[in-house]
This record gives sequence, structure tokens and C-alpha cells, in this order.
Amino acid sequence: MSGPLLGVLGGMSWTSTAEYYRLLNTEYAARRGGLHSAPLLLHSVDFAPVAAQQRAGDWDAAARDLADAARGLERAGAGAILLATNTMHKVAPQIEQATTLPLIHIVDGTARAIRAAGIDRVGLLATAFTMEEPFYRDRLRRHHGIDTITPTLEQRADIHRIIYDELCRAHIRPDSRDRYREIMRDLTDRGAQGIIYGCTEITLLVTPDDSPVPVFDTTRLHAQAAVNWLLEHNP
Ligand code: GLU
Repeated sequence: MSGPLLGVLGGMSWTSTAEYYRLLNTEYAARRGGLHSAPLLLHSVDFAPVAAQQRAGDWDAAARDLADAARGLERAGAGAILLATNTMHKVAPQIEQATTLPLIHIVDGTARAIRAAGIDRVGLLATAFTMEEPFYRDRLRRHHGIDTITPTLEQRADIHRIIYDELCRAHIRPDSRDRYREIMRDLTDRGAQGIIYGCTEITLLVTPDDSPVPVFDTTRLHAQAAVNWLLEHNP
């Protein structure tokens, strides 16, 4: 064993955590070669109580539970925390305060890729919490100078329902893919120069080819940022 482990806080939902696991290992192996695979610890929570806390607006309870899990990862030897969901970054500050570890923030790697593409106005597909509450769009704007275009109320309801009722349960439906495509076309007509797949399950439904403009897939970009951290600390 050499350097520190990456502490992954996952299970939100398990379908996207499985994709993170695949991406972390694929990327790490591609960059280190041979039989290398990503050194990590995974705490995969039961998503039902977390989703219930979200619906009830009990973010303090969710923050407490995730802070406990982060402390557990620190005790077990993690050197950084990867919170494998966009929505729960609403409580990222409380998780950061709970340990001495750095938190690899999902917005920052995504924003760096957007700026590297030379654009600053993007459509945001995500859960209602991420699309409607300020924690995510404000960080894009204030830290990175990126403006977001939010889908309409009706579009947001469909995007959110498809995430929780289908993608988090591993149901992939062609009619839902068509609906996402239609919404992305509309966001592009409204001026989006790119689209953020701002929920970690969206990559299970649509690919970059489904969008008329460049896509910024938070699952992939977050995993890449984590692999950068691993490579820096595991020479
Ligand atoms: N994984 C999703 C996200 O990236 C939604 C599930 C959750 O609420 O954590 O926002």
C-alpha cells in the first residue's frame, strides 16, 4: 500500500455510484497503466431515508448523517472525500467541517471543464433541489463566472420525476430519453452554449450525442477530478 485512499460517500443513488466506481477505475487504470486500479473506500448509504429527508426539507438531519459517514471514512484512512451526488452538495459545507479532509467539490471540476471549452452560459439538468435552490447555481456564478439557464417548471418536474422514479431504480426508458432530448433542444434555443448533466444518474440515460451542444457530465468530470487527486497522492 502506498498513498492515501479516496473516501467515496455514495449510494445516492447506487445506480450512479456503480458508474462512479467504473469510471474511477477506468480512468485510474488508463493513466497509470498495467493492473492499477483506484485505491478507495466506499461508504454506500441507504438512499430511502436520505430521499425522505430531502422531501421533508430536513437538510440538517441529512447533513448530520453524511457528516457522520465522512468521519467514518476519515477514521478508516481516507485522505479526501468524494460526495458522489450533486444534490447533497447542498450540505457540503457541513461535511467539510466534520473532518480535516479536503472535499472534492462536484461544481469545481465541472466549471473548469466549461471554462476550458470557452463558454459561460449553460443549461442545467438536475434534481429540482439543484435546479431551483441557490447552492449550485450560485457557486457556478460566484466562483466561476458561469450563468445557468434553468428548464421551465413543467420541464423541471419531468426531469426530477425521471431521476427519482426511473434512473435511481435502474429503469432506463426510451420515452424519457426523448423527453430529455427535447428539453436540451429547448435550452439550446434559449441560449445555452452547453448542457450540464447535473445529476449523477443522467449519464445512464443520455450521452453527449443526445445534446445539440457540448455536454458537461458531472459524474465523469467529478471522477476525473478524484483521479487527479489520487495521482497526486499516490506517486
Ligand atoms: N444523484 C443525484 C444527484 O446527483 C440525485 C440523488 C440525490 O438526491 O442525491 O443530484
